[in-house]
Amino acid sequence: MIKRIEINYRGIFQKTLAKKIGSDIVLIAARMGQVGFSNGRYSDSPERNGIPCKYFAFVSPDLSEEELEAECGAKLDIDEANVSIVLDDTMVKGVEPWAWHGIRPINEKLVEGGHLLVVSRRQPQELLPFIGKKPFNYHLAILEGDASFSGLWVFKDDLTHERVLGAIAALDPQIISLEAVQEYLWQKTRDERRVQAANAAYEEVRERLYTVTPADGIEWPYEVPTLPKWHEFREGIVVPAVPRGFQLGPRGQSRNPQFKRGTTKTQRPVVRFDLCTKCTLCWLECPDECFDPTPDGLYDIDYEYCVGCGKCAEVCPVKECIVMVDELRFTDNSSPWEFYRRDPEGYIAWAEEKKGRERVIYPFVTGTGLEVVTAEAVPQGKKLPAKGQTRSKSKRETV
Ligand code: SF4
Ligand code: SF4
Repeated sequence: MIKRIEINYRGIFQKTLAKKIGSDIVLIAARMGQVGFSNGRYSDSPERNGIPCKYFAFVSPDLSEEELEAECGAKLDIDEANVSIVLDDTMVKGVEPWAWHGIRPINEKLVEGGHLLVVSRRQPQELLPFIGKKPFNYHLAILEGDASFSGLWVFKDDLTHERVLGAIAALDPQIISLEAVQEYLWQKTRDERRVQAANAAYEEVRERLYTVTPADGIEWPYEVPTLPKWHEFREGIVVPAVPRGFQLGPRGQSRNPQFKRGTTKTQRPVVRFDLCTKCTLCWLECPDECFDPTPDGLYDIDYEYCVGCGKCAEVCPVKECIVMVDELRFTDNSSPWEFYRRDPEGYIAWAEEKKGRERVIYPFVTGTGLEVVTAEAVPQGKKLPAKGQTRSKSKRETV
């Protein structure tokens, strides 16, 4: 028997976290007399900011090391998962790896009766409208928390790692038991807080476990491509060049339609076209060339290519003109400019509703807390410079 665990994480930001979880599952399972194996997905490119990537862990009570490695080590991806962990809840919209083979449902590999564990502050009813339907029942478990920025080169030690281990023990003690997690954490760190974090997550997840039925979720809107088997490749294949077209401006667009990165983002820019001064900065500075010049001199966004880096919002010189907004507030990638053209007032009301009033300002020195300010509602067409504004009703939060 093999239990398969996949850890969905965002490139760079959560690489170290995912790796630690995967390797600790193996070490804890070994203490229980099992054989374990952990690796990263071969086709991933985790040095890309935010890109969906996977780590795997495999545990077996009855196979030898060689047998388990032969079963699990030589695969590009796994075929099925008993537990699928999601370290950033915006990935419930689908995962689209670097070696672009389509936008795949976050629960694609989950087996009947398996567990989808999501680190989130949302309720299941808020997540399921993004998740593809399965033909059988499975479980959705929520571990309350934000997407941990654990980093690639450094590790942000916010106890997410220990909490996820405790949560796995609650979901499937055959993989790792709570006692084995406790013992491992204590012997490794001699830090009672870490053991307590795992214990608390164990209890929390048992209370927040929901059964998802075939009626829950959505019909998956994207085509899930089937990758060819190695023996199906043709000999001497010719790879046609991707057609590129350069358009107006200093750099113009040269997007590759076979390399969309829409699910890389945790936030997306919302533009108030009525405030735009047509300065071109967003179009010029966007590293992924997402902005399209429109006939009326504005800049539309193609969200299928946007990676959510936030640079456009940084460079836009107009107050409240571009604001980054949580990705789970959106259900499609349709053109915002077309909406604006159809119904300017309706679009502005929609944009303001999506933006909300809270704006988070990140300090230059990490660990000094976030500043949350209440944004002013800018009336239609009133263009104000973004910099040098007095902030109203600001409050500080410590994180
Ligand atoms: S957030 Fe803005 S600058 Fe960054 S990729 Fe998206 S559109 Fe481009
Ligand atoms: S940076 Fe702002 S003001 Fe300038 S073109 Fe883009 S949206 Fe308009």
